[in-house]
Amino acid sequence: MIALLRKRVAALCGISPLPHPDAQRQYPMGGRVGERAGAASQRALSRGSTRETKKPHIVVVGGGFGGLAAVQSLRRAPVDVTLVDRRNHHLFQPLLYQVATAGLSPAEIAAPIRAILRNQRNARVVLDEVTGIDADRQVLRLAHGNPLAFDWLVLATGARHSYFGNPGWAAHAPGLKSLDDALAIRRRVLLALERAETERDRERRNALLTFVVIGGGPTGVEMAGAIAELARKSVSRDFRSITPHCSRVVLVEAGPGLLPAFTRRLSARAEAAVRGLGVELRTSAPVKAIEAERVQVGDEWIPAATIVWAAGVEASPAARWLGADADRAGRVQVDAGLRVRPHTFAIGDTACVAGADGRPLPGIAPVAKQQGQYVARAILALETGRTPPPFVYRDAGKLATIGRSRAIVEMGRLRLSGHAAWLLWCVAHLYFLTGFRNRLTVGLGWLWSYFTFARGARLITGDAEPPPPERLSAAA
Ligand SMILES: Cc1cc2nc3c(=O)[nH]c(=O)nc-3n(C[C@H](O)[C@H](O)[C@H](O)COP(=O)(O)OP(=O)(O)OC[C@H]3O[C@@H](n4cnc5c(N)ncnc54)[C@H](O)[C@@H]3O)c2cc1C
Repeated sequence: MIALLRKRVAALCGISPLPHPDAQRQYPMGGRVGERAGAASQRALSRGSTRETKKPHIVVVGGGFGGLAAVQSLRRAPVDVTLVDRRNHHLFQPLLYQVATAGLSPAEIAAPIRAILRNQRNARVVLDEVTGIDADRQVLRLAHGNPLAFDWLVLATGARHSYFGNPGWAAHAPGLKSLDDALAIRRRVLLALERAETERDRERRNALLTFVVIGGGPTGVEMAGAIAELARKSVSRDFRSITPHCSRVVLVEAGPGLLPAFTRRLSARAEAAVRGLGVELRTSAPVKAIEAERVQVGDEWIPAATIVWAAGVEASPAARWLGADADRAGRVQVDAGLRVRPHTFAIGDTACVAGADGRPLPGIAPVAKQQGQYVARAILALETGRTPPPFVYRDAGKLATIGRSRAIVEMGRLRLSGHAAWLLWCVAHLYFLTGFRNRLTVGLGWLWSYFTFARGARLITGDAEPPPPERLSAAA
């Protein structure tokens, strides 16, 4: 009864229940009572123990959209599943920009992987970083733990930023991929506003109030719109010397237009909506250099204390681990059944597979999810001697939001823009967000800020010491 009560309270609070003390005593590596947790722990040491249980051992690397979908699709299968991730949480990356611009708190868009898989009895979670794969011996190398043997391996390790061969830009123009990235950007944006409030030197103040976002894809557009609303509307009531017209937000795109994945008409609407928020657009304008607090666009240097990189990604090193072929973005070339080796699959942002039109499928959450569900079915088919059909992606459409009340949507023949599209965007994102509590708090938070322009998470954490003044004067 008490155990049931503890479970209910934990579920309501969105936290993982504390393990039963006996569970810890019996299974020091973290398994649950009543499970084959002891055997599972042993599997970390050798492949032989997998065969003792007579169940195939499936190792999934990455608890993002693809990896989690694969594990959850195996919940009723007679297999043992181990999910390895270097982070303890699943992250809803589409809303990261709202954490970076103080609209949401980190916990509202992330959930502990252990809590998500709490009730899946054939799955266990290992917090560790994969550093290599011995494909012949079917063993994973981990940064901290023992090598992990597998019968089937699913690589869903995602992607990271790419600075197109300019790694030095990373320090000056952080990208947005993890919660740490989002908090670092939030800190930069909020500190720039705080410093601008008391700055007397006009040039330095202008640089502090200039925000440059590089990349005109969905993330860049969302970031630019959200920064414009934060710097122009949300904070202007709280500051005494910053008015809505002080701030400058510049969105830089190397190509001829924003959101090239959408139809030209919808992209044009998005551009108009971005301009309507007071964002300066620089299209056909490749960035030539980025230094401390300034960026060169074409021949012009723009002094800006905050520069955000949303221009490029490269896949995780999965192709290198396997010595497999990769495309220009480092994505592993997989066959039509998403396999790289007979017992190894790669899915999501880390894999390259052609869609119905022959072009590589985009790095988006629905592709990763559908591939995760597919590999679960494919492994079960292969285990019973059947040949799985090739993977086919069902395109459910594309959405992108611009600020707090505009979006564009392309779903089959349906084309929407403006408020209606934004409402659809809100519903879709709430639906796919993990956890009822997160859906509720994010939904209420959006409603609140829609009417008030308030940004609930405007917290600067860490040391708020201003940088030496010469850095910005040098930049200008
Ligand atoms: C800012 C941003 C906004 C986005 N917006 C949208 C959107 O609006 N709509 C949309 O559809 N898509 C969007 N995407 C893309 C979408 O999030 C990705 O396509 C999706 O997350 C890919 O899923 P995945 O499972 O392949 O990788 P991920 O979700 O990135 O998961 C990879 C996992 O692997 C783990 N990992 C990586 N390397 C290792 C290692 N060596 N060892 C152990 N674990 C490892 C990571 O910790 C992570 O948990 C956005 C992405 C970003 C960054």
